[in-house]
Amino acid sequence: MTVDLAAARRRLGVAGRDRGCLLGAGLVLWCDPLEDPGSVDAVVADLVLLGVPCRTVAAARPPRRPGLRPRAGVEVRVAQGRPLEVLRRQASSVLRQIPRGAPVDSEFDLAVWDLDGAGVEVPVGAAGGLAADWPHWEGWQAAAMGLTCRSCPADLRPQAPDDVRRAFREPGGSPGWPPRLLCEGCRWALVPDRRSAGSSGRG
Ligand SMILES: [Zn+2]
Repeated sequence: MTVDLAAARRRLGVAGRDRGCLLGAGLVLWCDPLEDPGSVDAVVADLVLLGVPCRTVAAARPPRRPGLRPRAGVEVRVAQGRPLEVLRRQASSVLRQIPRGAPVDSEFDLAVWDLDGAGVEVPVGAAGGLAADWPHWEGWQAAAMGLTCRSCPADLRPQAPDDVRRAFREPGGSPGWPPRLLCEGCRWALVPDRRSAGSSGRG
């Protein structure tokens, strides 16, 4: 059993180093079923062995080069709070091996907003189906994955902890992928009486 645990920690360390990303929401380990068949089951099995709660979600990463297609895969997510605390206790080396990118305090998914009937900005979910390392994508990659405004070139991803920009659902846009999103300015521009709606919605 001790050997099993040591082997699990070692495997997770390698996965973290090669495919891990640490965000405000927690840890994600990316698994590409084409390049590495069986990697999802292996990662989950190792986490279960260590008693770390996790969940898997289908997730897409952007193309590596312009003109290529997004890459479909699966992400194993360990949420901030108790799950990540268990991992830290059981295998702190895994977290130390995560590459240090720019510090990001994001959720797993980019939040999406809309205007309600009274012109108040309300959260309506998230741009799902995307890998959680979206804050680290290049601008062209974000555009390829639907994370830029459909009416102007604005990147919809907050760029800093005090950046309060929001992504809005495009009215009448079909759900699904890629998300059809607008920046705050372009969303408000669609409100007929923009001035009165805007003043009641922002306070
Ligand atoms: Zn816009």
